[in-house]
Amino acid sequence: MLKELKIFNTIIEPGKSYKLNFNMAKLYTSTSIEVPVIINRSKKAGPIVLVTGGIHGDEINGIEVVRQLISKKINRPVSGTIIAIPVLNVFGFLSGKREFPDGRDLNRVFPGTKSGALASRFAYQVSSEILPHVDIILDFHTGGAQRFNVPHIRVSQLEVNSWNLAKVFNAPFLMHGNNIKKTFRATCSDLGKTYLLFEGGMSNRNDKEVVDTAVNGAIRVLDHLKMLRSDVYVERRNEESIIVTDSMWIRAKYSGLLHPKVKTGKRVERDEIIAIITDPYGELKYKVKSPHMGYVINVNQSPLVYQGDGIFHISKHGE
Ligand SMILES: [Zn+2]
Repeated sequence: MLKELKIFNTIIEPGKSYKLNFNMAKLYTSTSIEVPVIINRSKKAGPIVLVTGGIHGDEINGIEVVRQLISKKINRPVSGTIIAIPVLNVFGFLSGKREFPDGRDLNRVFPGTKSGALASRFAYQVSSEILPHVDIILDFHTGGAQRFNVPHIRVSQLEVNSWNLAKVFNAPFLMHGNNIKKTFRATCSDLGKTYLLFEGGMSNRNDKEVVDTAVNGAIRVLDHLKMLRSDVYVERRNEESIIVTDSMWIRAKYSGLLHPKVKTGKRVERDEIIAIITDPYGELKYKVKSPHMGYVINVNQSPLVYQGDGIFHISKHGE
């Protein structure tokens, strides 16, 4: 006998697909905001996997990843259940913003409260209606505006199940990072769930390479969990993820026009020239050098920088 699964007062039957809605708030115009939750349950028992995008409304890559998983029917498992929420923060998605309309970051109000501010109420619904059923969460993010992140999984090395599953996901980079309080990730961790945070590219952009990397990682995870349909192609990478446990930001010594010379993902050597900062008058030409050997995990793509702005995030490998 399969266990009963009930979400938003709907019994999720084996072998069936559902599109449920969080129907929890309205716009000023009285228009209801619907947040679709797409659930596919196999007849065969197995893990319950939640895939989420758009917890930050402007992180389009993550939304596109979940969209592709649905559109390519990868979310129809041969065992277990897949719950897909492509856009958690529909409000922010509509307005092209990271935050909820109340100005709050949905990813800093978890697990939320029943009668708190709008974002907090929403977080509460996710935490109380969905998360208790789930075994594994794949949460897709991007870097910030103008800051292009190399595709990576960020989890804590101390969370062994998550760390091991991150190796199966096999993004180009695997970064150790401690939990930040009140994040979705911290709540998942407190509940003892296996949780992978993917981050790649930057906000308000749809980057094909980043999306492909994430979709292929999700496919490898579902294959590993024996949930993947046999007709879905599993792309194997020849290399293991490069593990990053320490890193530092390189900051601009001068204000000016920034000309980066290296791309994300590239290995740089100590004293290698990684950018030039110039002024508009043809006088300043400052060479930015890497202080150590490492991999470029984030590049600031803004054409202009102020003194002190972070321009590169480079890994450290215990030299
Ligand atoms: Zn994010």
